[in-house]
Amino acid sequence: MERKIPSFIKIYESLISIPTISSHNKLLDQTNKNFIDLLSNYLSDLNFSIKINQVPDTNKFNMLASIGSGDGGLLLSGHSDTVDFDENTWTKDPFTLTEIDNKFYGLGTVDMKGFFAFLLEVLSSINSKKIKKPIYILSTANEETDMSGAKYFMTSSIIRPDCIIIGEPTSLELINAHKGHISYSIQVVGSTGHSSNPDDGVNSIEIMHNIIENLISLKKYLKQKYENKKFSVPYPTMNLSSIHGGDAINRICSLCTLNIEIRPIPGLTLTQIEILIQEKLQSIIQKWSNRIILKKLYSAVPAYQCCKNKNVTKIVEKLCSLNSKTANYCTEAPFFKKIAPTLILGPGSIRQAHQPDEYLDSSFIQPTINVFNKIIHKFCC
Ligand SMILES: [Zn+2]
Repeated sequence: MERKIPSFIKIYESLISIPTISSHNKLLDQTNKNFIDLLSNYLSDLNFSIKINQVPDTNKFNMLASIGSGDGGLLLSGHSDTVDFDENTWTKDPFTLTEIDNKFYGLGTVDMKGFFAFLLEVLSSINSKKIKKPIYILSTANEETDMSGAKYFMTSSIIRPDCIIIGEPTSLELINAHKGHISYSIQVVGSTGHSSNPDDGVNSIEIMHNIIENLISLKKYLKQKYENKKFSVPYPTMNLSSIHGGDAINRICSLCTLNIEIRPIPGLTLTQIEILIQEKLQSIIQKWSNRIILKKLYSAVPAYQCCKNKNVTKIVEKLCSLNSKTANYCTEAPFFKKIAPTLILGPGSIRQAHQPDEYLDSSFIQPTINVFNKIIHKFCC
C-alpha cells in the first residue's frame, strides 16, 4: 500500500517544531492554530473528516477527526499544547527533535504532541475498508492551563464512542483512576502600625496562624476520613505551598498570603472540598469579616475513576496484558467521563514531562505502535 503521509520521524519532527505553549502568563501563551492545521492535514491525507472548533474566548482550537460511521467506536485523544520552558536549563533546542543515545529530545515529545506521531503511524497502516466503527482523533487546547479545550468538547460534542483513550505519558501502563487538584490563595488583610504598640494595628500573621491551625486539622480529617488503597498515597493530601507576609521588624504585619493545594481521591468531590474549607474557616472569617480573602487559584480538576460497570477497562487490560493502575497526576479524563469510559495510556514517562530536556525513550516506539494497533482493531475493525 502506498504511504500517504511522511515517515514517523518526519511527522514527529514536524509536530515538535511548532510551538504551542499554554501559560497563565499572557506573554508566553501561544495559539495552537498552526499545530492543529498540520495535524488536520496529515489526518485528511488519511481520509479522515476534520472538524476544527475555536474554544470560546480564546485563540485556541480543538480538532476532532473521524473516519468510519455508525455508533460507538474509539476516541484517541491528546492535548496539542505544552508547558513553557526555561532556556537556561534546556541544553537542546526545544523545537528541534534531536536523537541522542536512543532518546528523542524536544518539548512535547512525551507530553504529548509526540503521541499524534504514533497514532498517524498506526492509522497509516490500517486498511480503511476494514473499518467497521468510527475512529475519532481528538486534539484539545489549553490542557496545561485551564483544560478549557476538554471542557468545551464535553459540552459541545454529540459523539458517544465505546471508549476514550488519552495518550498521556504513562510508560505504557494503563491508568483508570487519578487524583484531582484544587488550589487556593488565602489573604489576610490586617492593618499596620508601630510594633511598640500592638493595639495600633491588626497583625495578619497572627490571624494566619489560626487559619493554618484549622487547615492542618482539615488535612488530618481528610486523611482519616477518605482512603483508597489503589493509590500510592492512599488519601487526599493537602500541601501548604507558600506563605508571604511582613517587612520591617518593627512594623505590625498588615498583609499575609498563604497558597495551598489539595489533591482529592475519587469519592471526594471538589464541591465537598469547597464546603469543608468554608466550614473550617467559618469562625475566623466571621470574626475578621472583611479581612480574609479566599480565592481559588487556576482551575480545579476533579479526581477521576473510570466507571466500573463498563467493562472497557477489562477489555483493554486483556488485550494489552496490562493491569490497570492509578496515578497521582491529573488529566482531562474527568471531563470526558460523560462521553465515554476513559482510560489513560501512552508512550514515554511522566518523569520527563514538564522537565528540561524532555525526551521520549526510543524503547517505547515499537511497543506503542503494537498496542494502539491492537486497540484500534479491537474497537473499530
Ligand atoms: Zn500532558
